[in-house]
Amino acid sequence: MNATSERTNARRPLLSWPFLPARIGARLYLLSGLALTTVAVLATAAMHFVTLAGETGANIRARVQVELVHVTELELLLERHRRIIESAPVELDRERIAALRIHASELIAAMTGHVPGPGAAFVKHLAATLPELARQGDATLHLAWNFAQGAAIDQAAAYTVIARRLAGEIAAHKAGQLAAVDHDVTALVASGGVLTRWVIAGSMLALVLIGPVSLLVTSQIVRRLKTMTATMLRLAANDTAVHISGTRFRDELGDMARAMGVFKSNATALLAYQGEIEALNRRFEFALENMSRGLSMFDSAHRLIVCNRHYRDLYGLPPELARPGTPFEDIIAHRMRAGTARMGESAEAGRLPWPFDNPAAPPSGELIQLTHELANGRIVEIAYQPLDGGGWVALHEDVTAERMQDVRIERLAHTDTVTGIANRHSFQEVLARALSEIETGGAFAVHWIDLDRFKAVNDTFGHPVGDALLEQVAARLTQAVRTEDFVARLGGDEFAVIQRHATPATADPLAQRLIRVLSAPYALSGHHIEIGASAGVVFAPEHGANAEDLIRNADIALYQAKADGRGCRVIFETALAAGIKARRGLEADILEALETGGFEMHYQPILDLKTGEVAVCEALMRWSHPVRGPVSPAVFIPVAEEIGVIDALGAFALSRACTDASGWPGDIKVAVNLSAVQFADRELAATVMRVLAATGLPAHRLELEITETVLMRDDAATIATLEQLRAAGIAIALDDFGTGFSSLNYLRRFPFDKIKIDQSFIRDLPSRTECVAIVRAVADLAKTLGMRTVAEGVETADHLNRVVQAGCDQVQGYLISRPVANAAVPAAIAGASKSAVANAA
Ligand code: C2E
Ligand code: CA
Ligand code: CA
Repeated sequence: MNATSERTNARRPLLSWPFLPARIGARLYLLSGLALTTVAVLATAAMHFVTLAGETGANIRARVQVELVHVTELELLLERHRRIIESAPVELDRERIAALRIHASELIAAMTGHVPGPGAAFVKHLAATLPELARQGDATLHLAWNFAQGAAIDQAAAYTVIARRLAGEIAAHKAGQLAAVDHDVTALVASGGVLTRWVIAGSMLALVLIGPVSLLVTSQIVRRLKTMTATMLRLAANDTAVHISGTRFRDELGDMARAMGVFKSNATALLAYQGEIEALNRRFEFALENMSRGLSMFDSAHRLIVCNRHYRDLYGLPPELARPGTPFEDIIAHRMRAGTARMGESAEAGRLPWPFDNPAAPPSGELIQLTHELANGRIVEIAYQPLDGGGWVALHEDVTAERMQDVRIERLAHTDTVTGIANRHSFQEVLARALSEIETGGAFAVHWIDLDRFKAVNDTFGHPVGDALLEQVAARLTQAVRTEDFVARLGGDEFAVIQRHATPATADPLAQRLIRVLSAPYALSGHHIEIGASAGVVFAPEHGANAEDLIRNADIALYQAKADGRGCRVIFETALAAGIKARRGLEADILEALETGGFEMHYQPILDLKTGEVAVCEALMRWSHPVRGPVSPAVFIPVAEEIGVIDALGAFALSRACTDASGWPGDIKVAVNLSAVQFADRELAATVMRVLAATGLPAHRLELEITETVLMRDDAATIATLEQLRAAGIAIALDDFGTGFSSLNYLRRFPFDKIKIDQSFIRDLPSRTECVAIVRAVADLAKTLGMRTVAEGVETADHLNRVVQAGCDQVQGYLISRPVANAAVPAAIAGASKSAVANAA
């Protein structure tokens, strides 16, 4: 539609013809001028005609009425005079002649009276001729009176010449006058025709030119005015996309169109400004609505100016109460009904609470922060800011969750996150309370409990299983005690129980029960797990009047329980302190020996039964302390594991064993023991390879002995480490087979090269028939699986015979050789082979 109107507007108007002025006013004036001129011309023509007709009429009348009448009279008078004069010569009566004489002079007088007005040449001539005529006539008459007939006749003839000439002149004058009249009438008729043609021409001009041109001018103006009106209406409706046409005209409407263009750009700018204002408003509203806190603003008449969604939600206001102008009283009344008024605030109590009507209100302009507890339990923090000129703005924040969080944090501070029972902090509080209440609350015991083998579970199964185990431990402990007793986890695998009103007679059985309960098997994530527990027990106030002493002594008792082989409880006694000192001393000595090179390696040959030759020597660590003397690896290895130095100790063992072995005769291998804890190190395989490279020992001469605890953790990384080692050509042996949890199971996890049957089976071979069966079965199974078997702890020839019978491949034990220092290895090897020969014989 726009396109059409633009095309229409673009059409070049007829009236832009060059002969028309550019301005509409000028055009209209020109048209009016043209019309007026036409009318004036026509009127002038008509007037001219009327004047002409009048003059002509007067002329005709003058000629007809005056001249012709006089002339005709003159003619008649002349005729009568002529007849008198011509009759005179024959008249013989003097009297009659006298009468004629009088008559003739009367006629002459009458003729003189009828001479037409002056001016015409004829009239002058007549006036000049008449006296002559009168004289001739009179002369004739005179002669006649004198009876001179002849003379009179001559005289009459002269007279007649004059009279006839005069009569002819009069007739000619008359004919001339009539011709003039005829001429006048003809001219009048002609000018009437001219007038008619003028009128017709003027009318034609008006009809053909002025009419259509005015119509065109008018229609064009009207059309443009209409377009402009429509444009103005659209502009008025803020449609700034409207096209303003006709701005190229140099006329008044063009001026107007250009003015409209200015108006449009103003309107566009205004709209843009309005848009900005609206966007600002929307942003403001958005910000207001999305504020994390509620906002309300009231004027000096306590009427709502504005509030946001949070405010409405916080106090449960319906939309009609959130409208600007809502009285604060109405909102409070609603809040009382909705349960969102302040706690304890009722309809009767002050209807207008703070901030107004409060004499204690601080001076205007000061921020006031209050915390209100609402009837519905929510806690709201409000910051009131009084406004200049009355009213106030308030920010409302629902801090319920934070307050709850505080409570939760407070609770968390007292709770162990893993097990959900009380934590060390809580334990200390309860212990302090119990100590302070000893007078009234009575004596109590503290059981200080430590789990055995928990670290191994954690290391092998991972922390999630470890955590689940701790949870079950906590549950079992809580179930095992009375409600008045208190259970806490102190951290790690340490727990404590405060047993109220305890005596040695009740505390010892509880300690034993707790150990028993905790030692029962656990089923966790499909694993069957067995751990143990050790406990140290103290009595308050005998073993300490304050928490510090009590805890230290409980720790000593526990330490003793562990030293006693774990799985037991020890009740504190003063003498224990010394034992604890010993363990601490051992730990310190291990650390020192590690630094000073106090550890060394001995080697025990392992004999191959098929060849009768030593195939391998097992590296066994030795530590001879200057004061303690020789300490068994069965004692210091677990301690080294516990205090976290097993990696360093293991690296030393490996490195020394490989170095020593590379100096041995022939192709004899070295077997090195690896602790399960060492497998936590992902770099273990790399470390082994580095040691081989550094010592120059070929990989096929190294055997690594691991226990099934390594495989207890179903861990892809451990298997990967083992596979890496095996792929490098290192043999892997499963040590102490038969002592663990479910040895056979582990044979499927990894293709071991060797199984070392634990010495407990060998020791019992002579006395227990099932041991024979077991050793034989293991040997058979190993054969089927392509593994070799080693019988450990072969001390007697009988042992040897039996393991040979059972089908073992290799033997190790005092019968063959005791572990010896590296220097003695060649001799031990030779001795071992010799003993084999002897045994065979
Ligand atoms: P194991 O790996 O089972 O080592 C064999 C143990 O049996 C050695 O005890 C050895 O002296 C002893 N033995 C050998 N033949 C006989 C015998 O005929 N009768 C008896 N009763 N015992 C015999 P040892 O040297 O006291 O080592 C004890 C344990 O300490 C070892 O048991 C091993 O688990 C650990 N161990 C020793 N050295 C190391 C080491 O370098 N690293 C690691 N991780 N553990 C080691
Ligand atoms: Ca071993
Ligand atoms: Ca062993």
